[in-house]
Amino acid sequence: MNNRQESGRSYVIIGDGIAGSSAAEILAEETDSASITILSAESEPLYNRILIKEYAKGKLPRDVVEIHDQSWYDERGIDLRLDTRVQTVETGEKTVVTADGERIAYDELIVATGGTPRQLPVPNGSADGVTTFWTVEDAARIREQASEAETGAIVGGGLLGIDYAAVAAAQDVEAHYLIREDRWFARAMSPAGAAIVHDALRERGVEPVFETTVEGFETDPEGRVAATVTEDGRTYDSDFVGVAIGTEPNTAFLEDTPVTLDGGVVVDSHLRTGVESVWAAGDVTRYYDERFSTHLSNGTWESAATQGELAARNALADDSGDPFETVPSYTVNHFPFPIASFGHPSLGDAYVERTYGEREWRRLAFRDGMLVGGVLIGDLAPLKPLKELTASGARVQHRAPALLAQSFDGLTVEQAPTPVSSD
Ligand SMILES: Cc1cc2nc3c(=O)[nH]c(=O)nc-3n(C[C@H](O)[C@H](O)[C@H](O)COP(=O)(O)OP(=O)(O)OC[C@H]3O[C@@H](n4cnc5c(N)ncnc54)[C@H](O)[C@@H]3O)c2cc1C
Repeated sequence: MNNRQESGRSYVIIGDGIAGSSAAEILAEETDSASITILSAESEPLYNRILIKEYAKGKLPRDVVEIHDQSWYDERGIDLRLDTRVQTVETGEKTVVTADGERIAYDELIVATGGTPRQLPVPNGSADGVTTFWTVEDAARIREQASEAETGAIVGGGLLGIDYAAVAAAQDVEAHYLIREDRWFARAMSPAGAAIVHDALRERGVEPVFETTVEGFETDPEGRVAATVTEDGRTYDSDFVGVAIGTEPNTAFLEDTPVTLDGGVVVDSHLRTGVESVWAAGDVTRYYDERFSTHLSNGTWESAATQGELAARNALADDSGDPFETVPSYTVNHFPFPIASFGHPSLGDAYVERTYGEREWRRLAFRDGMLVGGVLIGDLAPLKPLKELTASGARVQHRAPALLAQSFDGLTVEQAPTPVSSD
């Protein structure tokens, strides 16, 4: 594949998160005189979204999240347009239209618009003090409000919810952590693994409450949140609330186009939409995973970066390019022990797990005999070899005891897995 002859063409990227920025970096590296434009709804260049929780905790300054400044784009000849929201795309005309009515022509378009946190559709769900968490501006608001709060409620039992819980703990907020399921991260954790996390939350002054649904919020006379009310009639004092109940992909600007949307921008394994010259990358995609023969969503920094690079390379390629094959992983470092989730644990049709000590535990998910994902607590040394097995698509379920060995560092030749392709 490649590319230098592509110079002179016009590449437009929507979104300057890690997916969009990574795409632009590859395009700048691989072309000589192409026009590369990034349109970003945010007011600042790429920053480290996964570090904004540390800023919100109140311990680190805002500049800890900085990645690129304007000069980074200038040096690469990338035209970065901040505060520029895309309103629609005319795919027949190959033109992007911004909210200000500007029309920008493209030869190749990469959509990298990520997602937006869902709000709770309940009375006072958007009252002052009820927050969601995605941008550095959100982090600044959360930092300030949590630092002034004495009591709090966190809503949503997933990976962003636990970040919120850690922020509340770091800011000495006496918080209840309201989880709809019977445990934290129920789509990946068993009761035994989740119990380790629940204990660690309690040690930090955050009390988990299970199988509970928020009915609404009470406010004070100024309209600020004062309490969280659940459907079972309980009331939790909360002058700070964090809502982390999932995200909606940012696809509204594509609704009147032929691009297929179904829980995100639907792309094939090469990140192509069904529409000529339109690609997508990062959290906004529902991408086809060839290993598991299904469409999946992202949600990790590393996958978004890899997809951005790949979308750019494939947009430049003369042939069909490469498929996306990265096995994602996500690490939680709020406690004295690390937690890592890898692959797609919720895809499993069979699970095995083992507890090694008070705070060391592992659970693995298999589907059709393949290792599709898992969660590790305490010792992350086996993460790399386990991810490699997931990447291989080999059927290894019958090797579960070896995979659960405390010091697992890969399968030996005798334990050689059966490749899927030979079945
Ligand atoms: C608090 C927090 C903690 C996280 N922690 C981790 C972690 O520990 N590990 C991990 O792997 N992942 C973590 N993540 C997830 C990770 O940050 C995301 O997976 C990653 O940032 C997705 O990158 P992206 O480029 O696809 O989308 P985004 O980062 O969401 O960027 C998309 C950009 O597109 C812009 N945009 C949207 N619509 C338009 C439009 N119409 N016109 C122009 N621009 C538009 C948005 O404003 C945004 O700037 C965390 C996320 C958050 C919020």
